[in-house]
Amino acid sequence: MNIKSQTYDAVVVGSGPNGLAAAITMQQQGLSVLLIEGKDTIGGGLRTAELTLPGFKHDICSAIHPMAVASPFFASLPLQQHGLDFIQPGLAAAHPYDDGTAAFLSHSIEETAAALGPDKQAYLDLIGPLVRDWDKLVDSILSPLKFPKHPFLLAGFGLKALQSAEMISKRFSTEKAKGLWAGMTAHSIQPLSNLATAAIGMVLSAVGHVHGWPVPKGGSQSVADALASYFSSIGGEIQTGWMVKSLDELPKSKTIFLDLTPKQMLKLAPDKFSALYKWQLNNYRYGMGVFKVDWALSEPIPFLAEETRRAGTVHIGNTFGEIARTEQQSARDVHAEKPFVLLAQPSVFDDSRAPSGKHTAWAYCHVPNGSVKDMTEAIEKQVERFAPGFRDTILAKNTMNTAEIEAYNPNYIGGDINGGIIDIGQLYTRPALRLSPYRTSAKGIYICSSSTPPGGGVHGMCGYYAAVQACADIFNLKTPNLNPNDV
Ligand SMILES: Cc1cc2nc3c(=O)[nH]c(=O)nc-3n(C[C@H](O)[C@H](O)[C@H](O)COP(=O)(O)OP(=O)(O)OC[C@H]3O[C@@H](n4cnc5c(N)ncnc54)[C@H](O)[C@@H]3O)c2cc1C
Repeated sequence: MNIKSQTYDAVVVGSGPNGLAAAITMQQQGLSVLLIEGKDTIGGGLRTAELTLPGFKHDICSAIHPMAVASPFFASLPLQQHGLDFIQPGLAAAHPYDDGTAAFLSHSIEETAAALGPDKQAYLDLIGPLVRDWDKLVDSILSPLKFPKHPFLLAGFGLKALQSAEMISKRFSTEKAKGLWAGMTAHSIQPLSNLATAAIGMVLSAVGHVHGWPVPKGGSQSVADALASYFSSIGGEIQTGWMVKSLDELPKSKTIFLDLTPKQMLKLAPDKFSALYKWQLNNYRYGMGVFKVDWALSEPIPFLAEETRRAGTVHIGNTFGEIARTEQQSARDVHAEKPFVLLAQPSVFDDSRAPSGKHTAWAYCHVPNGSVKDMTEAIEKQVERFAPGFRDTILAKNTMNTAEIEAYNPNYIGGDINGGIIDIGQLYTRPALRLSPYRTSAKGIYICSSSTPPGGGVHGMCGYYAAVQACADIFNLKTPNLNPNDV
């Protein structure tokens, strides 16, 4: 069968979590869908491979999945029946300090707060309301800007979330609580003095208490495989190994979904968009990049603090001041000497990741967009600082600078893993200021990647909402509510 001569209701370019989500949502409405992926395997940021030694399985991009388990879209799918199994580490995250102690994020908000001593109440006041009301607020937080179902609750969240991480840090009196907060908010990949950097810290902390920060058994590829298996089971078609160069080469379809960022859209469809829309895409801003290291290890990382050995994710950067400084430096095109390092140790909880008794670890730090500097030494020094003897456990390693990350996945422009900076200016107006961020200026062409709200991370909500928009616009179909209980 020659795919190019077929006609579809929808063609989706790119099979990251958002491309898969758009494809599934369209197919669920009884429409015919072709999902095209440039690489030989599906998944985008969800891929696992033996990057170092045989038998050591490394997550090439995403490793830790709080937003996947918090995603109303993923929750609506029978992914367990399609082989997906999440494992919850003993602690979601830990944050070691130079004095050998660590703060942590556990499933229990009370336990997390109690360990912060004098800052117990400040933590409960900040995160508690969001934990309590998560089920009511998730619909507004993981969506485009729309009239909220719970405006007063959302306003309560927004008043804190729209502040900078730095402003909110003043609520805490101890270095321990401030440092933990810095690690959570540094996931925003921006200077911690930027407005709205508190949002990501609040959301990630609350999700840790409500859903945990799990790792998928077998690696992040298993999330993509489960989504693809479900998509195929309802009749969807997948074509891998087709790197689309122009939209003109696609089969005929009523709608096209682009799981791509603005820069690639301009390349693939130079003539399809209005001058104003092209101007907006050209002005879209990308953020800092990441430098990544994967290690094959002879044993678990010998972290000094016990909590750190029990955590799936470890935030390495010591105090709020240190982390804030390094993030500020990277944003100003300076490579930090002691970078903030996000580290995951999935094999401690999932024995399918490495040969018996051996381990894998995954880490990255933020660097200037487009940087090609090798940060391996700086990252390893930071790990060694809180885990003396770490270097002796290294059997092999694989590194990727920002250029290599972009070469691996063209969506990661200059190493930006969020599909564009998620600052106050682009929080809801990504990729352009429009009534619907998913519609492009060309009828029937939609953008569904993390360059749309709610942004980066593995949750599929961008793809889901793009498909909902297209169903309404082109097929006059109303898609069922993801949260039937939320009234
Ligand atoms: C190092 C790293 C660590 C990360 N860690 C985490 C984490 O721990 N947790 C988390 O939730 N998120 C994490 N992320 C972010 C997460 O991976 C992304 O936010 C997410 O994958 C974005 O999904 P997407 O569907 O928008 O795009 P992507 O996942 O980037 O998928 C886009 C797909 O489109 C394909 N494509 C591009 N151009 C074309 C073309 N012209 N023709 C055909 N196909 C094309 C690409 O090959 C790719 O498969 C990480 C990312 C990186 C790089």
